[in-house]
Order: sequence, then structure tokens, then C-alpha cells
Amino acid sequence: MDDVERNAIEISTQTIDIPTAYDVIVIGGGVAGCAAALAARRKNKNVLLLEKLTVLGGLATTGHIVIYLPLDDGYGRQVIGGISEELLKLSMRYAYYAGDISSWKEQGKRYECKYNGPAFSLALEELLINEGIDILYDTLFVGSEIEDGICKAVITENKSGRSRFQCSAVIDASGDAEVFARANEPCIAAKNSLAIWNYCTQGADSQYQKRGGPDGPGLSLVSFGRIDTQASKHTVTVPYYGDTAEAINRFIIDGHVRLLEYLKGHENFVPASLPGMAQIRMARRIVGRYELSDKDAQKHFEDNIGGTGDWRKPGSVYEIPYRVLITKNLKNVLCAGRCISASGEAWEITRCIPQAALTGQAAGSAAVIAIEQSLAVQDIDILQLRETLKRDGMILDINT
Ligand SMILES: Cc1cc2nc3c(=O)[nH]c(=O)nc-3n(C[C@H](O)[C@H](O)[C@H](O)COP(=O)(O)OP(=O)(O)OC[C@H]3O[C@@H](n4cnc5c(N)ncnc54)[C@H](O)[C@@H]3O)c2cc1C
Repeated sequence: MDDVERNAIEISTQTIDIPTAYDVIVIGGGVAGCAAALAARRKNKNVLLLEKLTVLGGLATTGHIVIYLPLDDGYGRQVIGGISEELLKLSMRYAYYAGDISSWKEQGKRYECKYNGPAFSLALEELLINEGIDILYDTLFVGSEIEDGICKAVITENKSGRSRFQCSAVIDASGDAEVFARANEPCIAAKNSLAIWNYCTQGADSQYQKRGGPDGPGLSLVSFGRIDTQASKHTVTVPYYGDTAEAINRFIIDGHVRLLEYLKGHENFVPASLPGMAQIRMARRIVGRYELSDKDAQKHFEDNIGGTGDWRKPGSVYEIPYRVLITKNLKNVLCAGRCISASGEAWEITRCIPQAALTGQAAGSAAVIAIEQSLAVQDIDILQLRETLKRDGMILDINT
């Protein structure tokens, strides 16, 4: 008992000493937010990462989405590198993996992997803390103070109440364009189909499992993704949105109901946990300086910050222009991850884990340039950004 009490006291004294001003504040600790924070911190900026949940990784961990989609173009050419590649490797560091990285090319396999979500979460936290990034969990971003298009401070709510953090730049990696939407910047809500991917300890016999789910010790996934869609990916018979509290609530409860129905009909199905966030592919995206769309496949952009293949089939390569990360009005706020400015097939491809890391790295790097040169994010030197990204392992100009 003594030991228990002593431990409790020791633990409770480990409070985080959080400053009230940062160079860069990242909203959201999903893959995009983690990559953005790393990119900015590695250029010696003070970085605060705010996360409303209690783990890092977002959909890619607590959301039970545990397939790191390919970094290649389907023809054996690697098209994504940098922090995205680093995080792919990190995702497998502390637990099993079913992919084969070392000989993927020789084997004709795509450069992708499956991983264990909780292990990836812990690995991300270890990495970010070791690199000197301040993480504030269980903290909700609720708004910002904006003057003349410049975000001076962000406002948060947590157990200690309401706080205000000053900043030089903000990266919206909330997955839902929270910062832009709350600043009354125009955003676009997206139609989704119902989805619930779920860990179970045994008995998964869903379509997903037949395709080969992660083969962790005693762990597999059951998935009801897209159950309400018609053959065409974008035709949704029962649309779900993710931009209001009511819509998200309906999405979550309908998913739970569908999972419970499955549980009742499959005696040997044993769920291990439920996803900790709504598995909405896209809730809301920014209206960027450019919207990447289907017509941009194979196109070259002078301001590309990297590019991506198509996870569904070989080819259809998209370069991603810097302008999809920024809007017209906000001068020190960038977007990263699944809420960047992309539509149709281009969004279907760029909303995934490797691309979230890619846009995160680009947003973090661009924020640093803007801060160091006292420039608006719309005015930074794109050549300098591209040189920085290239030096840091990003693969540029994949369509030249
Ligand atoms: C059903 C489904 C299947 C998918 N399948 C795959 C797949 O097989 N492979 C693949 O690569 N991708 C897949 N994806 C896409 C991929 O998982 C996500 O798009 C990607 O992980 C998004 O990363 P992100 O960092 O942009 O956003 P998120 O993972 O959503 O992270 C955003 C983070 O911000 C936090 N946050 C939000 N609002 C606030 C706030 N106000 N204050 C503080 N924190 C906040 C959230 O808690 C979260 O941690 C799938 C997605 C879904 C829904």
C-alpha cells in the first residue's frame, strides 16, 4: 500500500511545464499533425501539439485504420519519401508487421504495411517527446484570435479550464478543418458512407478479413466499410456527414448498431475494442488556393511539395501543389492531412495515411520559412520550400 501511495505521489508531481507562447502550434495529433510537428521542430522551432484524445495517431491508431497504404506508384517506383517513409517504418517498430519492406520491390509488392495501432501510437509519442515537442493531451482546440488574417493565439479547453496560447503559425491537422471553419473560412462538407472497422480477438469473417487483415497475435479486424454505398465509390445511398455534432453522433451510433447486429449473428466474434473516433473518411475540407481534382492526374505543378501514386491501382500519379494547404485569407495558418483542398478521386487518394504525413511535413516546413522571413504563408519562396523538402527526403516532380 505504501508503495502504491508513493508511486501515485511521484506520478502526480510529473506535471508538464507548458509555456504560453510557441512558434508553431499544431492542432491534432493524427499522422498529419505528428509529421507537421516533427518538420517544424527539426528546424529548431518550439512546437506545441494539441490533441483532444489521449493517444497520438488519430484515425491511423485509435480509429483502427491500420494499413499504411503504398509509397510507390504501383510500378515499383517509390514516389513518397521523407517523414512519411520514416513513419511507415516507425509504425512497425514495436509490434508485428505483415509487410515486407526490405524486398518489396524485388517481390513485386507495393511499399506498404499493416501495423498494430497501439504500438504505433506509443512509438509516435516516444519520438515526438524525444525530439522536444510539447504534447498536450485531452485538450480541445475551441477557437483562435485572428487579427487581419493572422492567428495570434489559439484557445483550448481541458481539465484546467480555458487556456490561451500565443503562436507565430498554426497548422490545422484536425482532420476536419477545425481551425479554418471556426475562423469562418469557407469549407466544404463531404458525403460519406457508414464505416466501422473494429479490432476483434477472434472470429472475424468479414469481407475485410478474407482480404487479409493484420495478422497480429490473436488480433484481426472486422470491417463494414462502405456498406451503404452502391457500386460506384462516390454514390452514397444513405449519406453521412461529419460536420455537425448531430451528424457525427448518428454516424457513431449507426456504426455501433451495425456492429452489434453482427456480434449477435456471429457467436465466435469477440470484439477487442471499439474505435475511439468516428471513422469518417472526410468530414470537411478547406477551400484552398487550389483544389486538386481528377483532372490533375499526371499533371506537373511547379509548386509541388511531393506526389503520390494511387493506392487502388498502378499509375494515376498526382503531384500535390503547395496551394492546397493554404487559403486566400489566413496568413499564418496551414492545413495538413485529410482536410486539404482536394476533391473526387484526387481526394480519395490524398486523404490517406502516407499523404497525410506528406502534407504534414510540407505544412511544418512551410510554417518555419514563413516565420523566419516574417512572410505570409501565401508569399513564401516556393523554391526554398521545395529545396528544404528535397533535402529532408521528399520526392518531388514525380510527373516530369
Ligand atoms: C473507414 C476508413 C478507412 C480507411 N482506410 C485507410 C487505409 O486502409 N489506409 C490508409 O492509409 N488510410 C485509410 N483511411 C484514411 C486515413 O486513416 C486518414 O485519412 C488519415 O489517417 C488522416 O490523418 P489526419 O492526421 O489527417 O487526420 P486524423 O487521423 O483524423 O487526425 C486528426 C486528429 O486531430 C484531433 N482533433 C480533431 N479536432 C480537434 C480539436 N478541436 N482539438 C484537438 N484535437 C483535435 C483528433 O482527435 C485526431 O487525433 C481510412 C479512413 C477511414 C475513415
